Amino acid sequence: MRPHHIIHVSGVAAFLAVASSAVLAYAYPSNNVAVAAPNVPVISNEVVTSTVPLAEALEEVKEPIFGLPISNAFDRVTKKTFGLEVHPETSPVQNDRFNGFHVGVDFETTAAEADTEVQISAICDGPLISKQFAKGYGGYALQSCELDGEKVVVLYGHMDLERIEPEPKDRLKRGDLIGVLGEGYSSETDGVRKHLHLGVHRGTGIDIRGYVQTTSEVSGWLDVLPYLKP
Ligand SMILES: [Zn+2]
Repeated sequence: MRPHHIIHVSGVAAFLAVASSAVLAYAYPSNNVAVAAPNVPVISNEVVTSTVPLAEALEEVKEPIFGLPISNAFDRVTKKTFGLEVHPETSPVQNDRFNGFHVGVDFETTAAEADTEVQISAICDGPLISKQFAKGYGGYALQSCELDGEKVVVLYGHMDLERIEPEPKDRLKRGDLIGVLGEGYSSETDGVRKHLHLGVHRGTGIDIRGYVQTTSEVSGWLDVLPYLKP
């Protein structure tokens, strides 16, 4: 195992997980649309040494509890916890790299899931806002929810757009099926590995970025992990 450190940052409640071999997933154009670098090693049989089970990244559980977006959520490893700062120099990829703070939580899939459907469920009650394709995500769905009286927008990234079942404005209940993950390294995920990027943006504004440039920007998102129950 390589050294792995998690530092709690008060104020933004962010984790800064400094993994020595952190791999960059996204870069962004100027129009706030997420763009991913598709050159990410296969999680299932490579680079697992740089990851930890999500359960190990959880420091506290908060109320109210959201539903789990994916089966065995806490047994899945994550390459990128919330707030992880990715450095281009640590990426094995020379192009399409980005330096920034990861404003979501990634749920990885296993090798056994490469050719099977991996279902994604709504983590909260609220209407679907949209389902679209964006460079860097492939398919993604946005859902409007409330957390402690605060409006949030939940982003489910790297999904098979054709298989996102609900239509915009459809009201979803926690646990309702949204769809399935896109196939890894295909157009469905815009070329990235098969995994779920789950982002929770505060307020009602739409910002689908997966990385931001400053810690103050990080505070525009919530770390969803404490609101999930192992
Ligand atoms: Zn991500």
